[in-house]
Amino acid sequence: MTQTKAESNWINATIKEIRYVSQTMLGIKAVFEESPFPAFEPGQHFDIRLTSENGYQAQRSYSAASASSQNEYLEFGIDVLPDGEVSGYLATLKPDDKFEIRGPIGRHFIWNPGNAKETILIGGGSGVVPLFSMIREYSAARVQDKLTFINSFRTVRDIPWQDELENLAQENQNLDLYTTITRESRVSERYHSGRINREILNKALEKYNLETAAVYICGSNSFVEAVSQSLLDLGAAFHNIKTERYG
Ligand SMILES: Cc1cc2nc3c(=O)[nH]c(=O)nc-3n(C[C@H](O)[C@H](O)[C@H](O)COP(=O)(O)OP(=O)(O)OC[C@H]3O[C@@H](n4cnc5c(N)ncnc54)[C@H](O)[C@@H]3O)c2cc1C
Repeated sequence: MTQTKAESNWINATIKEIRYVSQTMLGIKAVFEESPFPAFEPGQHFDIRLTSENGYQAQRSYSAASASSQNEYLEFGIDVLPDGEVSGYLATLKPDDKFEIRGPIGRHFIWNPGNAKETILIGGGSGVVPLFSMIREYSAARVQDKLTFINSFRTVRDIPWQDELENLAQENQNLDLYTTITRESRVSERYHSGRINREILNKALEKYNLETAAVYICGSNSFVEAVSQSLLDLGAAFHNIKTERYG
């Protein structure tokens, strides 16, 4: 069989660890024993391809969640959807199982430490995954620049890597967290209620210069549209806003 150029760069990944990192999100750490570690930058994604015994193949895009300087494994954060073909199958895998990946892909949503004095990361649901890669890289680099992570989930149990995130924020006074919960009315004081809107953004970003801050927004189409518009209304510069849509 002749391989096309796009097919030629699939590499085998072996699962080193697989566990739920929130109520619905599966954290998969993959290693690459026979292939070079796929170098990437925070914000980039990979295609994951599954092949069944009868040759049927399915592939989907998944963002890197680990820091790019962490090259012992590559971590993904996969929301397991009801009836989701690929996410549902990934949820049945175990350590030492294999799948293929191709990438990294995408150069429009990259953030690296030192890129900006002030960075604002905003994500909803699985849209937080590439932002975790940025936060982990930021923490590993120990830069002094300000970074705030505004995130939104249906319930508190949907927040992935929650303990790690809170530890990182405690260690670094320049890292601020602002979490809103949309489908639970009584949440602890650590969290806010409701969807991310102009009022919430105004409050969360009062210490930031919206005209110059670098902004990264990731989530569903409607989430990205609504948050971008609210930020523009508040004075953010269009050319400083980068978005990634999960369709
Ligand atoms: C650049 C990029 C990066 C991404 N990164 C991530 C990431 O880091 N983490 C992550 O979790 N996701 C990510 N996604 C989304 C991911 O690629 C998949 O779309 C997602 O995992 C769903 O795939 P699936 O095969 O599980 O579900 P699918 O089988 O594709 O189904 C998707 C949804 O549609 C519903 N559905 C399917 N068939 C039907 C039907 N016939 N009628 C009605 N409803 C139906 C399913 O119930 C499910 O809820 C990313 C997407 C993009 C574009």
